Amino acid sequence: DVDLLTVGEALVSLRSPGPLATGGTLTMHLAGAECNVAIGLARLGHRAAWAGRVSADELGEFVLRQLRAEGVGADGAHRDPDRPAGLMFLERRTADVTRVRYNRAGSAGSALNVDDLRGPLAAGARVLHLTGITPALSESAREAVTWAAREASAAGTFVSLDVNYRARLWSRAAARATLTPLAGYASVVVASADELDLVAEPGADETTAAADLLRRGVRTVLVKLGADGARAYTRDGVTEAAAVPVTAVDTVGAGDAFTAGYLSGHLDRLDLVDRLRRAVALGAFAVAAHGDWEGLPRRDELSLIAGSAAGTTL
Ligand code: ATP
Repeated sequence: DVDLLTVGEALVSLRSPGPLATGGTLTMHLAGAECNVAIGLARLGHRAAWAGRVSADELGEFVLRQLRAEGVGADGAHRDPDRPAGLMFLERRTADVTRVRYNRAGSAGSALNVDDLRGPLAAGARVLHLTGITPALSESAREAVTWAAREASAAGTFVSLDVNYRARLWSRAAARATLTPLAGYASVVVASADELDLVAEPGADETTAAADLLRRGVRTVLVKLGADGARAYTRDGVTEAAAVPVTAVDTVGAGDAFTAGYLSGHLDRLDLVDRLRRAVALGAFAVAAHGDWEGLPRRDELSLIAGSAAGTTL
């Protein structure tokens, strides 16, 4: 049994310090929302595993090496001999504006299917973490994620879903049609305020959407509010957590770090206020360092910034 199993597409991210069109030196990194969460948990000492499809070439090898180097189990990864690695370009266009572009259509990761997940799921996990990105990648990936959520929830596994809407992959209506039923299998749903109506009625406001999810069996609805922190809805009410004030240098990965912190608190059986405190602390670590996950803390580093996070039960 691992503490956390997550499933998704691992991307090779190529970062350009200036405009992409003028070329120059790119640096190569591992990216992907689910990988970020797995690394966040592994850094904190939890046993985390990732499952998915990677290319059979050097780029796939790079992805697996990075995961292993971070202590994330990758035995459930399938090497796909026929498809390329999904690529992501991060272009620092100006000091304040970073643009992202993807070359992921037809990638190995997008060919994920139910059979890829049978072994990893059967191996057992306390938490299964899914995102709304994977089901947008292909029909077979959508089936795989839905199957995994249904199986895990039927087996009593704690399922976590981060809505993570990607407008470049599907429309809001298509996302809602898949993610609303998916959220019904989840114990915790994580979303930004503008994503909540993708797991509830179209146009539902935050309170209505959260109430709807709680009625459908979700135990905790987490709403990420950027520099304003986060709100958690449970049957007992609403709990707010302020963000930890830090100098933000790179906001990519903040949401994944937040989720990792929350799930770490869940695995450590912390109460809601302390789970949120760890979540906002990890979010702060992510924004205060460059890279999607590179700045995430080891357990003995949590106190570097965690001390000032306030949690208040309303
Ligand atoms: P991304 O998609 O870039 O990963 P997101 O939109 O999913 O981010 P955010 O709400 O931006 O998620 O950030 C997640 C959490 O990270 C917030 O709830 C907060 O706790 C923390 N955070 C984000 N921005 C800041 C900031 N400027 N200062 C401190 N903490 C921050």
